[in-house]
Amino acid sequence: MGRLDGKVALISGGARGQGAVEGRMFAREGAAVVLGDIQDDDGKKVEAEIRGAGGQATYVHLNVTREADWRAAVTTAVQTYGKLSVLVNNAGILLRAKIEEMAEADWDRIMAINAKGVFLGTKCAIPAMRQAGGGSIINISSTSGLVGSPGETAAYIATKGAVRLFTKATAIQHAKDKIRCNSVHPGPIATDMIKDMLENKAMWEQRLRRLPMGRVGTPEDVAFGVIYLASDESSYVTGSELVIDGGTTAE
Ligand code: NAD
Repeated sequence: MGRLDGKVALISGGARGQGAVEGRMFAREGAAVVLGDIQDDDGKKVEAEIRGAGGQATYVHLNVTREADWRAAVTTAVQTYGKLSVLVNNAGILLRAKIEEMAEADWDRIMAINAKGVFLGTKCAIPAMRQAGGGSIINISSTSGLVGSPGETAAYIATKGAVRLFTKATAIQHAKDKIRCNSVHPGPIATDMIKDMLENKAMWEQRLRRLPMGRVGTPEDVAFGVIYLASDESSYVTGSELVIDGGTTAE
């Protein structure tokens, strides 16, 4: 028996990285998965791989900054698999720039994807989850949503802080709908997002100084936590913060 048997999950940013791994692991645990992203070729490959392994998956083009795309993605989940029970707001981008050198357009872009995207996904998922009798929304924030960092990531930190508190507002407002909402706070995870840091010895050594476990995390490290929050094992957990960071924020 799978931990997610009978669940229908929509995962944004599902074409690669953590979202793709979550898609594969969700399907293995029995969920039907709708993967949304803007990288259609990669997304189709993940869909084919999951289906090839006997799982249920559908890829949809989803730009998280567009409400119409979100509506279509939720409709796909409901029409294809009968309902929507889980939303993983995982899509995100990282920008590195000093505050005084950051272009206003870059601030607006990262806010639109990382913060507004989570709002729009939540907005569109709530009616379908209410219809299903409840659901679980999992917002992928970051350690950057908990504490500042010496890296040049102030805008990213602002978006992830917004996600952290939007999660709590959602949890409180929709507990009566049996919709739970929690945030996940990964430390450095080996995906394309931080390839620049992992390949830059000086940058990575600086990061390791704030990393008690002394290793980069894997997408699987995060996905196991996301599965817990998606499953009924976490049925009394809402508005909480699941930190998966190798000890970064412990000190
Ligand atoms: P990634 O870059 O490998 O994957 C991000 C995915 O989001 C990509 O597939 C990308 O195409 C998609 N995406 C970007 N803009 C989009 C848009 N407008 N609409 C739809 N999809 C879009 O990175 P990842 O590490 O897998 O990141 C997943 C989440 O984890 C992000 O929210 C990220 O901020 C967060 N996170 C990552 C790390 C890390 O170290 N990698 C640490 C903490 C939190």
